[in-house]
Amino acid sequence: MPTPYTDIKNFYIDGQWVSPSEGYETICNPATEEIIGQAPLGGKPEVDLAIAAARNAFDNGPWPIMQMAERIEVIKRFRASIISRQDLIKQLLIEEVGAVHMLMNSAQFNGAIEAIDYAIALALKIEPEPIAIESKPNPFDPSAPDLLGAGVTLFEPYGVVVGITPYNYPFLLNIVKAVPALLTGNTVVIKPSQFTPFSGLLLAEIIIEAQLPNGVLSVVTGGPEVGAMLTEDPRVDLISFTGSDAVGSAILRQSASTLKKVHLELGGKSAMIVRHDADVVKAASLAAFSISLHAGQGCALLTRFLVHNSIRPAFAETVKAILDQLKIGDPQDPSVIVGPLIRESARAKTEYYVQLGIDSGANLIAGGKRPAHLEKGYFYEPTVFDNVDSTSRLAQEEVFGPIGVIIGFDTDEQAIHIANDSKFGLSGAVMSADRSAAFRIAQKLRTGGVAINGGTGDLYVKAPFGGYKSSGIGREFGPHWLKEYLLEKAITYPIG
Ligand code: NAD
Repeated sequence: MPTPYTDIKNFYIDGQWVSPSEGYETICNPATEEIIGQAPLGGKPEVDLAIAAARNAFDNGPWPIMQMAERIEVIKRFRASIISRQDLIKQLLIEEVGAVHMLMNSAQFNGAIEAIDYAIALALKIEPEPIAIESKPNPFDPSAPDLLGAGVTLFEPYGVVVGITPYNYPFLLNIVKAVPALLTGNTVVIKPSQFTPFSGLLLAEIIIEAQLPNGVLSVVTGGPEVGAMLTEDPRVDLISFTGSDAVGSAILRQSASTLKKVHLELGGKSAMIVRHDADVVKAASLAAFSISLHAGQGCALLTRFLVHNSIRPAFAETVKAILDQLKIGDPQDPSVIVGPLIRESARAKTEYYVQLGIDSGANLIAGGKRPAHLEKGYFYEPTVFDNVDSTSRLAQEEVFGPIGVIIGFDTDEQAIHIANDSKFGLSGAVMSADRSAAFRIAQKLRTGGVAINGGTGDLYVKAPFGGYKSSGIGREFGPHWLKEYLLEKAITYPIG
């Protein structure tokens, strides 16, 4: 059976189907290396068309001035169209992204629905806020009566929003960019990763069925050049980017001369601190899960395991024992836990870092090779090194592959220091029987989030998500999520 949605050959922009100016790009299934389709490749004409349509829909269309309740109705139709296609979307995510079944019920698919529902709940709460009454002496005439003033803060959309997304959770992240921006009255252009274009292109059918006004939401696929054109364009007001720190930094440079708001959700090298009193099996399970989940292709996954030296041997042994049990293979098989990396280049990067670890004298305790039973597909065994120097490249750089490092410590202060000795600051974890000690450590970590004893264990849309330091600027999810897409306008007036 052909992979769902891979028959999409054109872009849907401003109510019309547009054929691609740059031809087509071959897309393969990372688990089998088989070609699943030829995806349309956008260029300058489509970027121009999509931005002009979004600009026109914002400047002259009904979308930004509609009542919130009306926009919510449209987004509810959008949600219903997604739900009615969920089996096809999940099948595409298996074949285009290499996503395992287990992940569909969490971040890959269900997370997108949770995010829509939460964004709708937040949208209902957006209301003008009063500015408190204040009395002040008249600065121009001290003998005159005092002035009494007050005001109101309005929340208004930015205008044209560009959402640029990575390959690892493409459907979720396309939705997570588009929906809050749309609900708040912005118009949107999405540029998905060049590796996962169909997870974005499929939105055309949903846009049509949900009757979004023309130009309000478009998808243009392509690589870095298309992303660069979108970020440099003066007609764009806000860029919401999820991807690597290197590209995030390039986007800040590209967009600098046209002064727009830039929201960045970037990479990480997150630490889990395992105190002497932690449940070793629970901590080791979390570590094993973290490096094997989506073959390590997750921004917030824990990849540095800082383990108290008294329990380090037991922790290392247990991690290895758990990893030995995990089934690696084609995600078509629902019992597979570890799928492939997205492309050969991602596997080559993983292998490069494994070699760095070996050369540095770190102790390879698990994995370190391609699985012998899989001839095709970009698979790599979840890999763990023990006794790793925390200043080494292996311990400092984001691999975005299934690699974890174990680093020993003796005191909480040492653990906090090692955890914070990173350019990144996305997530983190503390495992301890002493919850107060764990909480105090969590307070000292310079990261956007910390999970104590496993946290909630999953994508948690009610919690703000984002980075400190090189892991990003701004927050997605959480109670203030929609404010990222709104400008504040203060209107003040005299009263009395
Ligand atoms: P990437 O940075 O290579 O690419 C992301 C997107 O940016 C793609 O659509 C790509 O085409 C586009 N792009 C590349 N160069 C560009 C340029 N110069 N201008 C504009 N756009 C450009 O990331 P990736 O390899 O797809 O994804 C992995 C990275 O994403 C990891 O670093 C990971 O940590 C990060 N990530 C972060 C989060 C988060 O929420 N913080 C979530 C998922 C992934």
